[in-house]
Amino acid sequence: MLKSAQELVRSVGQSMGLTSHQLEYVLTPQATHRFEVTLNNKTYPAFRVQHNNARGPFKGGIRFHSHVEADEVRALALLMSLKTAAVNIPFGGGKGGVAIDPKPLSESKLEELSRQYVRGVWHHLGPKKDVPAPDVNTDARIIDWMTDEYEKLSGDTTHASFTGKSLKNGGSEGRVEATGRGGAIVLSELLAQKNITAPAYAVQGFGNVGSYFALSMREFLPDAGLVAVSDSRATVLCRDGLDAKELMAFKDQGGSFKDFKKPGVSVESAEAVLTQRVDVLALAALGGVVTEENAAALNTDFILELANGPVTDDAHDRLSEAGTTIIPDILANAGGVTVSYFEWLQNSKNQRWELSKVRENLREYLTRAMDDCLDTSQRDECSLKDATVKLAIQRILDAKGKE
Ligand code: NAD
Repeated sequence: MLKSAQELVRSVGQSMGLTSHQLEYVLTPQATHRFEVTLNNKTYPAFRVQHNNARGPFKGGIRFHSHVEADEVRALALLMSLKTAAVNIPFGGGKGGVAIDPKPLSESKLEELSRQYVRGVWHHLGPKKDVPAPDVNTDARIIDWMTDEYEKLSGDTTHASFTGKSLKNGGSEGRVEATGRGGAIVLSELLAQKNITAPAYAVQGFGNVGSYFALSMREFLPDAGLVAVSDSRATVLCRDGLDAKELMAFKDQGGSFKDFKKPGVSVESAEAVLTQRVDVLALAALGGVVTEENAAALNTDFILELANGPVTDDAHDRLSEAGTTIIPDILANAGGVTVSYFEWLQNSKNQRWELSKVRENLREYLTRAMDDCLDTSQRDECSLKDATVKLAIQRILDAKGKE
């Protein structure tokens, strides 16, 4: 992952004519904090990588997962710097994690782990320094413990040290839906420019991001038709259109799509979602699902990368050459970090925004981001992915120039 992220920055940087000094600046993390947490007499490696803060405090999630390792955290921190710059929110990029499987831990051990993580790194965190958020296997409950620990140690009382908190502890309205909703906003902006108003679309992965994306499509593209959705077990298909709300209620009750039954609806393998004839395929499950091997079997004009890195680099090049437009992950799934910015802003100013204000601002930021990326892509005749990275690199370098 690190190699791929660095390669992307190198190739785009070279096309921009950057000096090797500029390239190294964009690629190199400003600080890497490695420490250990101890639970039940066992120690686990912990990390916080602070990649770049030229545009504002470092920003990025903390994950608890047995596979967490230094290079992956570095790659994710670099991608966060690009993402915050691409949507032009005043943050840099960072990422953190502990190499532990939290699933077997009791609630009290999970709290101990969360508080220990903060004790190991709190000197480097803070509303104006580094503002972490939830990520894989971390949630609002964990972030509330972390915020509390940070405030005990630092004396800060703004709650702006972390985002992704519970609503009662200073979290923002609209955070849960933000990533999926953001995907619908950027997609509708792109399709509006192409005069496409009634696309048929499919969604791989119907968890938080995929389901809120489909729900938001009803608002941003009311004539669009959802014709296929999948989870890890099956794809549900109906050419006449599926009801996103009904499917969401089914999943909320713990249902698996392999058991979904309704007249006119068919159920096929989990992979079937990828090969349906659609205008838009939204990938909201995992990274690396579209590869050089299966890319030729796809049958879509647009791909929305809601998951991180669902289309491999080789597949991206192959599909782009064949005329498929791919909205890259750092733009397509940036709704979450954008509402995190709104949360930080509300906490810093001691405000509380209504859901309508959060939604309005999200739409404004992401529409502008999509327009900027489209302009760059058209002007420089490059893919949306290269255009987004180009814009992000330029903004980071411009901010460094002003330091
Ligand atoms: P989630 O766990 O809520 O949902 C994931 C969904 O993918 C589930 O429905 C699961 O059944 C499905 N899935 C898993 N394997 C599958 C497979 N092989 N085929 C089809 N479906 C499969 O996760 P989420 O929060 O919705 O996140 C989805 C993706 O988006 C992840 O890659 C995540 O890293 C990324 N992402 C999430 C956010 C966020 O705010 N939640 C932000 C940025 C990126």
